[in-house]
Amino acid sequence: MAKVRVATMWFSGCAGCHMSLLDIDETLIDLAARIDLRNSPLTDLKAFPEDGVDVTLIEGAVANEEHLHLVRTAREKSKIIVALGDCAVTGNVPALRNGFDSNQMIQAIYGSPATSNGALPFDVVPRLLGRVSPLAEVIPVDFFVHGCPPPAGLIAKVILALLDGETPELVGSDLKFG
Ligand code: SF4
Repeated sequence: MAKVRVATMWFSGCAGCHMSLLDIDETLIDLAARIDLRNSPLTDLKAFPEDGVDVTLIEGAVANEEHLHLVRTAREKSKIIVALGDCAVTGNVPALRNGFDSNQMIQAIYGSPATSNGALPFDVVPRLLGRVSPLAEVIPVDFFVHGCPPPAGLIAKVILALLDGETPELVGSDLKFG
């Protein structure tokens, strides 16, 4: 049986959702037999697969120009997009900066002789967007997995359901599969 092509991505978040994914323990062995992990911080492959994937799980909010490019690429090349965790679903902690003018802060920090030589860092790091956005503000998202981080058991259920061709549906605060 052909393996399901899967990618995972890490945008503006603490990596806790990927840690929770690893916490599914022995289920990882079952998954390894069924998926072809094509792109992930776990494999450190940098480029999104040109030929696309079946499922992409995305942790974190969209906070800089690189995220914006990558999330659009992922949408274009993935059959299913899963927003994994509250940063991807709502913006959560990274979106706390939305109450501030980040460009003004960057100018103040990098423009001060006390902290910098005055050079802005944008030739080596991606430029921040004016606003941090949850995924669904930028691209259509197929499934949302809540939690900070989502519990490992829930992540395992969602992934296994998707591999089985089921569609997880949120009923109240519980996911129903069928
Ligand atoms: Fe970290 Fe929570 Fe955001 Fe996941 S949802 S990246 S655990 S802050």
